[in-house]
Amino acid sequence: MASPSTERIGLKHGAGGRAMRMLIGEVFASLGGPVDGIGLSALDDGAALRLGDKWIVVTTDSHVVHPIFFPGGDIGRLAVCGTVNDLAVMGATEPLGLTCAVVLEDGFLRRDLERIRDSMKAACAEARTTVVTGDTKVMGRGEVDGIIINTAGLAVTDRVVTDAGLRPGDRILVSGTLGDHGLAVMTQRRDLKLEGNIVSDVAPVNGLVRAALAAGGDGIVAMKDPTRGGLASALHEMAGKARVGIVLEEERLPVTPEVRAAAEILGIDPLSVANEGKVVLGVRPEVAERVLAALREHPLGRRAALLGTCIAERPGNLILDTGLGKRLVAELEGEPLPRIC
Ligand code: MG
Repeated sequence: MASPSTERIGLKHGAGGRAMRMLIGEVFASLGGPVDGIGLSALDDGAALRLGDKWIVVTTDSHVVHPIFFPGGDIGRLAVCGTVNDLAVMGATEPLGLTCAVVLEDGFLRRDLERIRDSMKAACAEARTTVVTGDTKVMGRGEVDGIIINTAGLAVTDRVVTDAGLRPGDRILVSGTLGDHGLAVMTQRRDLKLEGNIVSDVAPVNGLVRAALAAGGDGIVAMKDPTRGGLASALHEMAGKARVGIVLEEERLPVTPEVRAAAEILGIDPLSVANEGKVVLGVRPEVAERVLAALREHPLGRRAALLGTCIAERPGNLILDTGLGKRLVAELEGEPLPRIC
């Protein structure tokens, strides 16, 4: 067998699934040292470093979505929301500021860049934050595909919520419909003509998480944004870290008819498709109904659903209860759609 060092990186290594997690574990994990808090080794949505009696939360993301403009958003809105949301699901709902580093290809249209900037400004306003520092680089034609945006975010919080806090009996909630972002990008890319439009859900969820935390308090024990790899990937990670099984009730999965139809045509499972304006929450059973009600009261949470339960059996596994029987949901190598965010 060839030594791993002679392997080459493939698209699957950026796709949010098992292949990416293995690459990070084998290549990057040793970059992380011991920290007072949650560091690289936790592989959470961001880091949380102790600062007196508070936590500094920091996260970074690069955005390579193709096409850069898609129904419901663009690469700029995605870059702001992706970072705001990674902070929010760590419990840090009030971002102090974002960084923005842009890599452009020679020949990129200035008009498009200004449109992306406007969209970033609007998303920052929705999230009640702003860009505080940045960087611009240009590469030659063909050396990069149009534009790459990296954003990082910084926030301070009193309480951190990791993605590892589940225990048997906890309930799983999701804040709305599944698969909208990935399928909006994919139908645009393939120029699929479908009945009804699929629009990306890309949005900052920090206000929604704020409302959930106000309702559920310490009863909210795990959170994640189900981006690449979708809800299935997020739940596999949460189940694996907490060594619990998660049973999902299929009839409660919120999926629009448009997304269901497009997913069927493309032969993919909406459970495994990226969302960019959703939160998965693990909560203690006694606060589940209260958190669900708080989510549904928020404009971004109208279709929130209580759809799963953690069990002690089958640790690390995701089990779909179809109503007729139960089956294991396999963990994918990665998001079935490359360059989705
Ligand atoms: Mg995340």
